[in-house]
Amino acid sequence: MATAKLRLNGNEVEFTPGDTILQVAWRNGVKVPTLCYLKDCTPTGACRMCLVEVTGARTLVASCAMPAAQGMEVFTDTEKVHRARRLAIELLLSSGEHNCLLCEANGECKLQEYAYEYGVSAGRFEGTAKHYPIEDSNPLIIRDFSKCILCGRCVQACNEVQVNRAIGFGYRGAEAKIITTGDRPYDQSDCVFCGQCVQVCPTGALTEKKAKGLGRPWETKKIRTTCPYCGVGCQMWLHVKGNRIIKVTAVEEAQPNRGRLCVKGRFGYDFIHSPERLTTPLIKENGEFREASWDEALDLVANRFMEIKEKHGPDSIAGVSCARSTNEDSYQMQKLFRAVIGTNNIDHCART
Ligand code: SF4
Ligand code: SF4
Ligand code: SF4
Repeated sequence: MATAKLRLNGNEVEFTPGDTILQVAWRNGVKVPTLCYLKDCTPTGACRMCLVEVTGARTLVASCAMPAAQGMEVFTDTEKVHRARRLAIELLLSSGEHNCLLCEANGECKLQEYAYEYGVSAGRFEGTAKHYPIEDSNPLIIRDFSKCILCGRCVQACNEVQVNRAIGFGYRGAEAKIITTGDRPYDQSDCVFCGQCVQVCPTGALTEKKAKGLGRPWETKKIRTTCPYCGVGCQMWLHVKGNRIIKVTAVEEAQPNRGRLCVKGRFGYDFIHSPERLTTPLIKENGEFREASWDEALDLVANRFMEIKEKHGPDSIAGVSCARSTNEDSYQMQKLFRAVIGTNNIDHCART
């Protein structure tokens, strides 16, 4: 419940003690840009994009890290604020190689979006950052350090959201970069390839290898669905171009996963388009498979089960349901065994 008030761009607004200025602004429909803020994580104030003017403060303050206070007077859109944001963008652009035309994040990159919005171009400052080679030794994630703005969102996503603790900041000054333990490639580190770091990266520094070159954001449509792999039922977006899934991302703010996915849900979609996928039941006769209809295949399985049951009793049959199936499928499986076959010999591999 709101119990305090401050003035935001001349308007009185309420807030709850503990809110940051950024949260108060967004809740009241005031747009404040940020590249490093990650919801529900410790604010870092790293990118300096959310700077605002607070009457009486000696300098501009990072609104993501500054708690709102009773009677405070805040301005989010002054010339001084815009000048500081333009400078921050210029410095970030100068610190790397942001060749947007070739970048996989073109059209989704927040740095690109803000550079356009604030009318900033690169070139005024000479870059000093060390140039690290692109890392693409694993099958899922490409790391391009020349596009990394060291916002730290990936580190927070890995450590505070997924709690995998696989990455952190390494080295100092112009050599700073995001590293795994021992600065090893992802595939030789503690990384479990959940891809959360890719989802939160605001630039093209972390991208999905399998999606490379397959489609720009404006060419794809997003279809919401439920992950089919396990009973958690994570909510996900399928990014589809021409009836082909090119990548999967988590739905933010939706239960139960609230923006998270595991490696299976995020990266395990290749099988859908595999030419080796079985599209019809196969029945083995005389050592050879032949195609069959679903009715024929299901009748065959049902008849065999009934033969065993009549000959040896229902307890001669047992079933183990798969933890990768949905709750509904597992429920149906136990129903089949208890009600149709007539045995309690039914278990679930998650119990092992
Ligand atoms: S893929 Fe997951 S575990 Fe690996 S670094 Fe990214 S967030 Fe951490
Ligand atoms: S890799 Fe991306 S999310 Fe991580 S610090 Fe660099 S720009 Fe930020
Ligand atoms: S497999 Fe992973 S992404 Fe899919 S529902 Fe389960 S936990 Fe969520």
